[in-house]
Amino acid sequence: MVTTLDSERKSRDSSGIGSGCLPVEIRELVAFCPKCKTLEAICFVDDHLMQNRRFSQRYEKVYHDCGAEEPCRLYRFS
Ligand SMILES: [Zn+2]
Repeated sequence: MVTTLDSERKSRDSSGIGSGCLPVEIRELVAFCPKCKTLEAICFVDDHLMQNRRFSQRYEKVYHDCGAEEPCRLYRFS
């Protein structure tokens, strides 16, 4: 259930969310890559990133496959 979020590309402010403040279940977040400025919705189940070809998870951080060394910022949306 990954949704592309073309309508959300405007929100590039720095109001990131904290991590680990939600109960364990499916969460949809928007990942923003600080390197290439990609903004894409990704899903987490039980704090694990659902299969996604463009993003990979290391511990609590999500990295884009463009080679960014910085983790993506994660934003919540509903
Ligand atoms: Zn990137």
